[in-house]
Amino acid sequence: MNKLVINYGINPKEMTKEALEALLDPRQVRGKAKIGIKPNLIKDVPSESGATTSPEIVAGIIEYLLDYGCQNIVVLESSAIGHDTDRAFYACGYKDLESKYAVKLLNLKDDKVTEVRAAGMKLTICKSVLDLDYLINVPVLKAHCQTKLTCALKNLKGCIPDSEKRRFHSQGLHRPIAALNVAIKTDLVVVDGMCGDLTFEEGGNPVPMNRIMVGYDPVLIDAYGAELIGLNPHSIKYITLAEEYGVGSTDVDKAEIIELGHRQAGQPILASPLAHRLSSYIDARSACSVCYGSLIHALARLQDEGLLKALSKKNLKIKIGQGFRNKKEEGIGVGNCTAGIRHNLPGCPPKAKDIVEYIRNELCKININ
Ligand code: SF4
Repeated sequence: MNKLVINYGINPKEMTKEALEALLDPRQVRGKAKIGIKPNLIKDVPSESGATTSPEIVAGIIEYLLDYGCQNIVVLESSAIGHDTDRAFYACGYKDLESKYAVKLLNLKDDKVTEVRAAGMKLTICKSVLDLDYLINVPVLKAHCQTKLTCALKNLKGCIPDSEKRRFHSQGLHRPIAALNVAIKTDLVVVDGMCGDLTFEEGGNPVPMNRIMVGYDPVLIDAYGAELIGLNPHSIKYITLAEEYGVGSTDVDKAEIIELGHRQAGQPILASPLAHRLSSYIDARSACSVCYGSLIHALARLQDEGLLKALSKKNLKIKIGQGFRNKKEEGIGVGNCTAGIRHNLPGCPPKAKDIVEYIRNELCKININ
């Protein structure tokens, strides 16, 4: 069965190791001649920006691999067009990993390339990626200005030269991304769901979500991740195409989801101006950051649909948090803690996609005028 491990918490390195222990049999990695770790270092900004993979998560993966005797570990990346990968390695904290664990950092912008055919397309791919015996894809779960979502499937775009990235854009991104995932087999995905961006892949509106996700199937991971940030996976064409090409399955309901860790009360500190504005629609009392982050993502999607005006007109705030436990009140509440609120969406934490659908339906019932 397709398995997904979700670990909630605030210590990404330890959470990563726990999630790997829960999913992997060490024999899957032991003896692999060359293991590649592909983070998302789109540009030279730290992970707190919401744009790049936390080095703590990669440190957790490296420590897991070293514990099981893996030796030849390389961290590979080609940052976005116009961005210098070596600067990104430095600014994102990866140079420290290189010295601490003696792993190799490989700037794929300097790599040789190979042409391959996949899903009816000719693709140009960095050779070092194809030479790996085991590929660990370590994306950030975040929104994307063109494709709505970027997570596991799209992260492999950092495995092609800049000229090919330009060609992908000219072809609308979706089909080439799906085909790229046929050409490059991901063996394991570890998602940085600690702090992704609300609207844009290069960061600027980070929202703490405090979770790590680990699984084998990049399609399943992307489908689950889309729902977490309030999107319908089937509205993202490259996910549907990747499923059609046999890369994996979007059937989240059939997957075995193992949840670890704790939902900790402690409202996140919002560095994002947009998230700040959206928080004015929330009545939070001791909300966990995983729950609060889901609600912020849901409100961003509702704002895109123009539905937040309805909340303003009715002076409605969405109730959330452990402080509402055992309270009976009027209004709309999300999460199990607000079960006593008259209109309640259960879940601990609920996904943003479910919150979007629930609030949209509730607003339809309200006479807005
Ligand atoms: S439902 Fe309550 S306990 Fe569960 S994540 Fe939300 S705030 Fe935390």
